[in-house]
Amino acid sequence: MKRNLIGGEWIDGSAIRQNINPSDIDEVVGEYTQADASQARQAIDAAHAAQRAWSFSGIQARSNALDFIGSELLARQQELGNLLSREEGKTLAEGVAEVARAGHIFRFFAAEALRIRGDRLSSVRPLVDIEVTREPVGVVGIITPWNFPMAIPAWKIAPALAYGNSVVFKPADLVPGSAWALAEIISRSGIPAGVFSLLMGRGSVVGKEIVNSGKVNALTFTGSVDTGRRLAEQAAGGFKKLQLEMGGKNALVILDDADIEIAVDCAIQGAYYSTGQRCTASSRFIVQKGIYPHFVSRVAEALSELTVGHALDPETNIGPVVDEEQMKVDQEYVDIGKAEGATLMYGGEPLRRHTRGHFMSPALFADAAPQMRIAREEIFGPVACAIPVNTYEEALEVANDSEFGLSAGICTGSLKHATHFKRHMQCGMAMVNVPTAGVDYHVPFGGTKGSSYGAREQGSYAAEFFTTVKTAYTRA
Ligand code: ADP
Repeated sequence: MKRNLIGGEWIDGSAIRQNINPSDIDEVVGEYTQADASQARQAIDAAHAAQRAWSFSGIQARSNALDFIGSELLARQQELGNLLSREEGKTLAEGVAEVARAGHIFRFFAAEALRIRGDRLSSVRPLVDIEVTREPVGVVGIITPWNFPMAIPAWKIAPALAYGNSVVFKPADLVPGSAWALAEIISRSGIPAGVFSLLMGRGSVVGKEIVNSGKVNALTFTGSVDTGRRLAEQAAGGFKKLQLEMGGKNALVILDDADIEIAVDCAIQGAYYSTGQRCTASSRFIVQKGIYPHFVSRVAEALSELTVGHALDPETNIGPVVDEEQMKVDQEYVDIGKAEGATLMYGGEPLRRHTRGHFMSPALFADAAPQMRIAREEIFGPVACAIPVNTYEEALEVANDSEFGLSAGICTGSLKHATHFKRHMQCGMAMVNVPTAGVDYHVPFGGTKGSSYGAREQGSYAAEFFTTVKTAYTRA
């Protein structure tokens, strides 16, 4: 059984949770302890006690630790990618790529730790100088979802540590394996005891302690809109700095002048890879009428050529849905789409394979209307719908008619429309002839409207959230 890391010690919790493989529910990937509320408080106390010394430990020590973590992740990407795919269900290629991405993120922040910048300005008062410097926020609570069990923790933990914060990390219940493996590497990186704690456990127990603790100065969360809203209300009362990444209903606009091969590739990759379980997944194809029939039939044809199966099978393109509950949601939305009058062009069926897993054929709805629930609500599964439109202007209007604003894409050969789209699409990430999902690790990530709250994640912009600014005045 794997334990939690609290104040530098590996500690048993009050319960055990089995980690089940969604490709084969008869396989237990491992057993993981569950922290209780008092252990969560213990970890927070340890983080609080260790933070100041860590923040003055020097940037070389921090950079070395992050480089150690990143290098080990890269060296063990096959092994850890296999574990990730077994617990989450994305294909082995996707699992390995995610671990590699996490490794690159740690190495990126190993370098960022060495170039924490400030400003020096003259005062409006003669003989007075001003320095603007960045300091750590303090103790950072990190709460993550199941869909990127390694990369999302990495893109929160790495900058938190790089800028001198201490961390209390609560991974999602469904994916303790990747979180534990990452924590184990971090425990050997030279970081002092207490600076980083792993708290596997329930959101309503461990998460709640983190959110309500007066000793946690900042909270970064990725997960559902409902949980995010609840956490924001609780955390704001304690004046915590907040960063929330939540849902998406990402549009991919296809104009008549699009390259059809690129458009189909963007649609398949963006909507269905990682089983559609990405907050940046395309779930609305907004398609101009001239290309619409060809696009819809080509996407359906491409879907029929994909292999759905066990995540570790090299033939598999689409792994299982993460668990029974998510499978139920996906199936419900397939029924909702049919009842709303959209045409199910392909898929949407539960599938049997040689292992008992949550397999489902990727679903494409055609003739959807912008007001339908399948076109408005986040599904978080391999389900997308195509909405026909007459003009680019109408496409943009439909794309912007959403409570979310994470990622959005356009497939077009027109520089004019691509440029207009980048300016007028209400989103945090705009893609031209590339899929809405699958972003680089060294540039900002985040959205507008109901998708995100607080400063951007990743790249050098991560400093906005993980540091606070001090303005110092000096008369010589
Ligand atoms: P998902 O299940 O799609 O990952 P959730 O929003 O349900 O999205 O969960 C995201 C993370 O938030 C998980 O780590 C979960 O355990 C945690 N969580 C859920 N409820 C709470 C809560 N009340 N307080 C703190 N954390 C929570």
